[in-house]
Amino acid sequence: MRRLGYDLSMQFSQPSAARAINRLRILNLLASQENLSRAEAARLLKLNKVSTGEIVEALIAEGLVEETGKMVTVNGRRPTALSLKKDARAVLAVDLGTKATSVALSDLGGNLLRFERFPTPHNPKPEELCVQIIKTCLRILKMMKDPASAIGIAVSVPGSLDPSGSVVASAPVWGWKDVPLAEAISKNTGLDVVLEHNVRAMVLGERWFAASQEPSGADASMLYVNWGEHISSAWVADGKVIGEGSQFGHIPLRQTGLCSCGSIGCLETVSAGWAISSMAARITGKEDITVKQACQMLDQYPDLASLLLDAARGMADALVYASAITGCGKIILGGGISSMPDQFFAQLLRRYEDAASVRLSAVSIERTRLGDKAGLLGTAAVALDQFVFRRTMLDQLSRQK
Ligand SMILES: [Zn+2]
Repeated sequence: MRRLGYDLSMQFSQPSAARAINRLRILNLLASQENLSRAEAARLLKLNKVSTGEIVEALIAEGLVEETGKMVTVNGRRPTALSLKKDARAVLAVDLGTKATSVALSDLGGNLLRFERFPTPHNPKPEELCVQIIKTCLRILKMMKDPASAIGIAVSVPGSLDPSGSVVASAPVWGWKDVPLAEAISKNTGLDVVLEHNVRAMVLGERWFAASQEPSGADASMLYVNWGEHISSAWVADGKVIGEGSQFGHIPLRQTGLCSCGSIGCLETVSAGWAISSMAARITGKEDITVKQACQMLDQYPDLASLLLDAARGMADALVYASAITGCGKIILGGGISSMPDQFFAQLLRRYEDAASVRLSAVSIERTRLGDKAGLLGTAAVALDQFVFRRTMLDQLSRQK
């Protein structure tokens, strides 16, 4: 189900596959630019005008593209403007977090139309979480004016997938092994389901919706760190996402502090959401303090500021190691803790600069522009890519040329 693109690419020389690929190229062009004429689309994609016209008619018949009026060109011609019909289809995005699970309905432009969030149970059994996901998806689908326009669901998971992309091979944070999550959700919602590793999904969201530039060239790469309840990362090199199974949160940093993995002094014990929450509870005497709440109580409990400062510095130290090893040109921080108040993020950057060598200090460190929606928008991007635009496959094809 997930690897359809590769079959298509193998038959690239066949006319039907070439047409399918040109259809996708036109669809993607219209998603990135509104009000284009048929002639402009043909020119931009270096396609023949007749076949472009035929594909556009087919896209209009499918309801994906609409004519949006007449344009005026310099030579006085009045070609018809075309645009993507963003509400023609919808996808569901399920961002499975260790603390909370978010479900949203997205249109073709990545606009999140409906949104629901529920606390993820502690150490959930697969069946238990699956039932909650299915119920939430069905409730959102029921509220849609046209439920038939929903075409698929993407679920991002804090774990690795099997090669088919439909089974969670392992989610160590919950002790899950070989969970056929896609099938269970698909059977109960009647929709196709695709799974993705959560950091991979965030990288895709960054590409689609934050338009962030990835460093290019043979030795340039980017590190994406998901800094939330737990800390994980993926490395993007030459356009490919790798290393999402890395143990970034478990880089040994300190001499004390018991980690969730059983080791002492991992990065997570200083900087992960779970560790900050538990230390904040000790300072305030209140249970279940989220990092967001801790940030709002700084005046009342000054010790919380040193806690957050330490978390920022711990992350900076780990990033120095990571950039030294990967040689990356850019680091993007996403996840809930990355949206900490500016004063702490500034301290992170200062600490990094102080600790890094001249070569390493050239690395740019940024926070995602997608804020706390990075996970959900990334998941929506996975669904839109899989069920509509196939942009990842088109990128792979253009790299192979
Ligand atoms: Zn650890």
